[in-house]
This record gives sequence, C-alpha cells and structure tokens, in this order.
Amino acid sequence: MCPFEFFRPKTLAEAIELLEQGVPLAGGTALTPRRGEIPAVIDLRELGLDNLEIQDNTILIGAGLTLQKMVDAVHILPVALREVCIKESGWNLRNMATLGGVIMSGDGRSPLLTVLLALRAQAVIEPGGNTVPLVDLLQQREEAGFHHLITAIRLDNPLALVYEQISRTPADRPIVCAAIAHFPEENAGYPFQVALGGFGSHPIRVEEAESILEGDGDIDAAVEACRKVYIEAGDAWASPEYRSHSTGVLVRRLLMELLS
Ligand SMILES: Cc1cc2nc3c(=O)[nH]c(=O)nc-3n(C[C@H](O)[C@H](O)[C@H](O)COP(=O)(O)OP(=O)(O)OC[C@H]3O[C@@H](n4cnc5c(N)ncnc54)[C@H](O)[C@@H]3O)c2cc1C
Repeated sequence: MCPFEFFRPKTLAEAIELLEQGVPLAGGTALTPRRGEIPAVIDLRELGLDNLEIQDNTILIGAGLTLQKMVDAVHILPVALREVCIKESGWNLRNMATLGGVIMSGDGRSPLLTVLLALRAQAVIEPGGNTVPLVDLLQQREEAGFHHLITAIRLDNPLALVYEQISRTPADRPIVCAAIAHFPEENAGYPFQVALGGFGSHPIRVEEAESILEGDGDIDAAVEACRKVYIEAGDAWASPEYRSHSTGVLVRRLLMELLS
C-alpha cells in the first residue's frame, strides 16, 4: 500500500491549493528516500513547467526542466551553465532530476547552485507569482512552513560566465568551487557576481569581492575577500586551510581568465 497520498493536478491553480497538504514531487530522486516522512505528494509533471525561452536578454527556464534538457540546450544556455549540469550528476539522474528539485534540495557542494548564484538567478514562486532572488530563497527554503512552488527561474544573460572546481575525482562533487559572471554595466547590481561553493548547506555570494571588482578592480584584494570567507570552512572533505587556500587559487584563475 502506498504510504502517502498522491495528487497529480492538471492546473497550477489546483497545485497551489494542494500545497498545504503535501510536498511538490518533481523528478523524485531526492524525495523518494524520504517517502516515509511525507503525508502527500503533488506530482508536477502535468503542469507544463518544462519551458525554456529567451525574452530580450533574459533566460526563463521552467522549474520542471530536467538537467539533461538543460545540457541539450546548446544554443540557448551559456556553456558553463550546461557544463555544471553535467557535473551535478550522472546521465540517469540528469534525465529525472529537475532544476526546481536542485534549487530546493541542492547543498553547498552543488556546482549548478553555485553557477545560478553567480548568474543572479531569480525564482518565480507561487502562490503570488512573485520573483525571489535565489540568494534569499536558499535561506527561506530552510524555514519550517515554506509551502511554495517554484514555477521558473529567470536569469540575465551574462557577457561571460566562468566556473572552476576542485574535487577528489572528475566525477565527484566539488570540495571547493567558484563561479564568476560578468554582466553589462547597464544592468542593475555589481558588474561581476562571485559565488563560492563546496561547503555547507548552500553556496554563497561574496559581495565584498564584487564591490572591490566594481571599484578599483584590485584582483589581490578580491581574491583575499573570497579566501577569507572559507577561513573556518573545515569538514570531513577538507581542512579549512586547504579550502581557503584553494578558493584563492580558483578565484584568481577565474579573474585572470575573465579580465584577460
Ligand atoms: C543515486 C542518487 C544520487 C544523488 N546524488 C546527489 C548528489 O551527489 N548531490 C545532490 O545534491 N543530490 C544528489 N541526489 C539528490 C537529487 O538527485 C538532486 O537533489 C535532484 O536535483 C533533485 O531533483 P528532483 O527533480 O528529483 O527533485 P525531487 O526529488 O522531486 O524533489 C526534491 C525537493 O525539491 C522539492 N521540489 C521539487 N521541485 C519543486 C518545485 N518546482 N517547487 C518547489 N519545490 C520543489 C520537493 O518537494 C523536494 O523537497 C542524488 C539522488 C540519487 C537518487
């Protein structure tokens, strides 16, 4: 017997009404092991949340799009964004796991979340249809009583996007990773967005480095600002000294690449 109730709404309005009763089910790859704790699931597959479009210079990605479909979007998504979808998980998982699922369940070692932070991703959430910066959503998702549905992710197309990681093997998740996006001056916010990952419950943005790069562009100072962030970031995978030093090396490499 199925231990939980199963709903498959046909419209967004129906899905929103059900949110108080259960949790959204996308690819199910993270949710399935937790099935014993869940009273009901709301299967999102008939809601048509797998769109991918460019409006002016903004990319809109449906939350239900699988990671493999993102890899396949050769002429639409920045190369570094497609590449981190490959690093996120193997082929079988990529064909099931969705962008919305990563945003709600990815941790600090997620290459995709790190790049989305650097891209200033914004989530469109229901009920309400509001747009929430990913940097805020990563905090809110931890709060009890967060009953929202992500319908899409909005990204500004960057001038350039670079990403590097250090992991124990090429297929492993990063111990340290960094992503930097460069946006046109006329866009709101800092022209460079810096995100670090490889540690903790979610990747982080380094606004101090962004502000230095907008000001005098002092690479040494920006690298130091990033290195400082992980000065106490030790865990089973890496000592704080190793992680902090490696962060400095990666960020310097990315900045040299971007600014050359
Ligand atoms: C063998 C295996 C290996 C894995 N390895 C890793 C790994 O190395 N690293 C890692 O981070 N994860 C890993 N995972 C977990 C999982 O694959 C990913 O986190 C995946 O991205 C989840 O996506 P999904 O679409 O399957 O989400 P689901 O499992 O369907 O959902 C995950 C969470 O997100 C919520 N959710 C999903 N979509 C939405 C939405 N649109 N709006 C609001 N909430 C939503 C769900 O309610 C649930 O809480 C692994 C899973 C398996 C089975």
